[in-house]
Amino acid sequence: MPELPEVETIVRQLDRLLSGRILRGLQVRDPKLAHLEPLAGSLAGTRLGRIRRSGKRVILPLEDGEAVRGWLAVHLRMTGRLLLVEEGEPEPAPARLCLELDRGRLLFADTRRFGTVDWLTGPAELAPPGLDPFDPACTPAALAELARAARAPLKSWLLDQTRICGLGNIYVCEILHASRLSPWRAAGNLELAQWRLLHREMRRILRLAIKNCGTTFSDFQDSRGLEGSFGRMLQVYGRAGAACPRCGAIVQRETQAQRGSWWCPGCQE
Ligand SMILES: [Zn+2]
Repeated sequence: MPELPEVETIVRQLDRLLSGRILRGLQVRDPKLAHLEPLAGSLAGTRLGRIRRSGKRVILPLEDGEAVRGWLAVHLRMTGRLLLVEEGEPEPAPARLCLELDRGRLLFADTRRFGTVDWLTGPAELAPPGLDPFDPACTPAALAELARAARAPLKSWLLDQTRICGLGNIYVCEILHASRLSPWRAAGNLELAQWRLLHREMRRILRLAIKNCGTTFSDFQDSRGLEGSFGRMLQVYGRAGAACPRCGAIVQRETQAQRGSWWCPGCQE
């Protein structure tokens, strides 16, 4: 599933390519997206504004002159992809939704059909469910306060999208390794200095991943159909049995809340 860096990668690419294009029509090709049908007529002629990210959603504003008519919010989930097809190019995959533009088309392809597209009309609906790691309000002190008295293991706590949004399994494993923190330790029992380190490593790793267009893993492709290159930089995720690049101990994989946790018992406490 795409995490924050993959969604940010897609958003930056789409913004560069799509912002300013005019919507000519909207074709709903999957009955699960039938709630968008009524928009088809009313949105023709609107212009795509600056594309941005909210949590793990891609936000496509549709504007009418200076006014915003609303926002299409796309959640890619497991296999969703937003693909720009230029004039005269064939469609590379079956699409659930097609935005016909003055130049080219934007397709929402999604083989497993878990992705969602919603039409939002109020700014309140745009807010992500939890703190965004790059939001200025997301400080080490804010994290410490949120986690006060939390008994949940740190890893599960960080994965909860209603607290911090955009982090998934891969980046949480990497962030915990970089911060020398065990995925099993209770979230409420970190010192402020440890939250500072975790906060710094979280932003550093996410920035690095964004710079490298996300992680290579099955199903993720950016809007050009390319895979990211952050996968080569993973320190523990998917590396069970290998030596930890920092201390040389053997990286372990354990199941935690039904998901794999990769970590190094030698240097994560
Ligand atoms: Zn280690």
